[in-house]
Amino acid sequence: MIKFVDLQRQYKKIGKQIDTAIGNIFIKGDFILGEDVVQFEKEFADYCGVSYAVGVASGTDAILLALKALDIKSGDEVVAPVNSFISSVLPILYLGAKPILIDNDPDTYNIDIKKIEKKITKKTKAIIAVHLYGQIADMDAIKKLAKKYKLFVVEDACQAHGSIYKKEKSGTFGTIACFSFYPGKNLGAYGDGGAVVTNNQSLAEKVRILRNIGQKEKYLHKLVGYNSRLDTIQAAILRVKLKYLDEWNNNRRELADLYNKLLIDSDIVTPVEQKDVISNYHLYVIRVKKRDILLNYLYKKNIYCGIHYPIPLHLQDCLRGLKYKKGDFPIAEKYADEILSLPMFPELTKKEVHRIVKEIKMFYENKK
Ligand SMILES: *Cc1c(COP(=O)(O)O)cnc(C)c1O
Repeated sequence: MIKFVDLQRQYKKIGKQIDTAIGNIFIKGDFILGEDVVQFEKEFADYCGVSYAVGVASGTDAILLALKALDIKSGDEVVAPVNSFISSVLPILYLGAKPILIDNDPDTYNIDIKKIEKKITKKTKAIIAVHLYGQIADMDAIKKLAKKYKLFVVEDACQAHGSIYKKEKSGTFGTIACFSFYPGKNLGAYGDGGAVVTNNQSLAEKVRILRNIGQKEKYLHKLVGYNSRLDTIQAAILRVKLKYLDEWNNNRRELADLYNKLLIDSDIVTPVEQKDVISNYHLYVIRVKKRDILLNYLYKKNIYCGIHYPIPLHLQDCLRGLKYKKGDFPIAEKYADEILSLPMFPELTKKEVHRIVKEIKMFYENKK
């Protein structure tokens, strides 16, 4: 069987180190905002190449606290891509602001920068730049727009740990950036976790207060904060895993290369890497005909794939209030029926990639 993401294989390799790291926390009783959180924040900021990282409870909360720190509130508008995970826009709604959705670029799947400018109004405060599937959004173009209209840029780097654009890592391009450490992410905890990173000291400080029930010192509550701390146990796990992140991302890139090579003489549309981008291949997403039948065929062959995402955000029930309708985002809607995420994780073997591609080719040959 080939799982979509096989976390057990990774644990087999690093399990001893993980168990020791967790055991030490039990011995010390250092559960909430412990030493491992402090150290992980330093190490992760260094890794990204930014001054500050603040550990929070999830990627969703990272985006919420980043927007809150930027004082996004009711009456504001925030631009975001329609082709993303729901958490790229939920925090906008939590704060009473309005998401302005934009269709995706047909090649990179990221926000189509040509469609942003005409949606900017006096109420627009920020752009959420999602680095979808690990590919960095067109940051030069986004930053240019942001400068022209005085907007904040919030990176949703929840899928882009270690992805590179013009020699800089994700997390360094915007006003503030958000990461998720959900177990299946390239850097994943063994539970929920997230981080906000920035070079802006006062924003970092504000997020630090917001994530800890608004207190700067014990029982001095400066802001209406949240309980959204990164758990010490998760921080300890992340410290072990961070050391392997580049190696794991390289493995993913090699597997993506192999997929590309093996699929080259087929009708399948393989991922396009934008100029100046080195993707971390969080996901390897192809576009195919008869997607659902292929998905089911592979499933029967014990090969588990995913769809990211089957329903574009504007057609989700929870966003009905935004009054979008079918037909508003033709690229995202068309692609939702064609995209397929093939198994991708650092411990996937080349032999398995060969087998997956062989099955895909068999499927289409039998259909002819
Ligand atoms: C995973 C993810 C999030 C949310 O992260 P959680 O840790 O699950 O809350 C947000 N945006 C994108 C693009 C993601 O992939």
